[in-house]
Amino acid sequence: MIYITGDTHNVNDMSNLSTKNMKLCCMEQGKDYSKITYAIVLGDFGLPWCKCPVDEQGTHPTDKTDKHLLKWYNEKPFKLLAVPGNHDNYDMIAKLPQVPMFGATLGKVSENIFYLNRGEIYEIEGKRFLILGGALSEDKAFRTLHESWWPQERWTEAEQAACIQKIQSEGSQFDYVLSHTGPTAGIACIDPYFSNEDNLAELALDSTVVFNDKIDSLVTYKKWFFGHWHSDWGYENFDEATYIALYRMGVVI
Ligand SMILES: [Zn+2]
Ligand SMILES: [Zn+2]
Repeated sequence: MIYITGDTHNVNDMSNLSTKNMKLCCMEQGKDYSKITYAIVLGDFGLPWCKCPVDEQGTHPTDKTDKHLLKWYNEKPFKLLAVPGNHDNYDMIAKLPQVPMFGATLGKVSENIFYLNRGEIYEIEGKRFLILGGALSEDKAFRTLHESWWPQERWTEAEQAACIQKIQSEGSQFDYVLSHTGPTAGIACIDPYFSNEDNLAELALDSTVVFNDKIDSLVTYKKWFFGHWHSDWGYENFDEATYIALYRMGVVI
């Protein structure tokens, strides 16, 4: 059983994955918490946040907070899988050892924590997932390059082309698409600000939204999950919604 939730921002929103919060969300959906095997965070997982040594076992945080959080996640009875967001340390993600899992490879943070690769297709518990990720950091002017902001939050053209190529060669039908920011149609659902066409056009300033829109036109899927907007739209009306934005809440699939 897979539990999907929104941004955890290192320790700031780690309570998304507290046993109490998860049990509550499971209860509302009539699901058994103890059957969860994987918890997926839809970007801005933010661990490791600070630079630290990496080897084939994963990361070895020296920062006190990272160390504490890593231990907390390692003690969970399920594995953590993170979609790369914008508040994620891409320099560290690039250094993670790649381990084979779900028909592809993942970046190993620890024995219990992994980063999903964006542009990759995975089969998890018999369900086919397309992983997107990234977003434009609107607060980057207040952040420090390679310490709290990473330009790799934007897909390169080569990365985008490789993702489209993969979809074309391996098949465009998915059970679930996971991204950090949404496609325009998803974002439009969560905020009445975007019911105005001019405001909606602003979304095109983020090249990741533009790319997500392109992917949205190329693939079929049951649900598209995304984070980034710190909104729980779609959680209450899961059955009818195509786009599910998550933050504090979790959906069990
Ligand atoms: Zn974000
Ligand atoms: Zn966030």
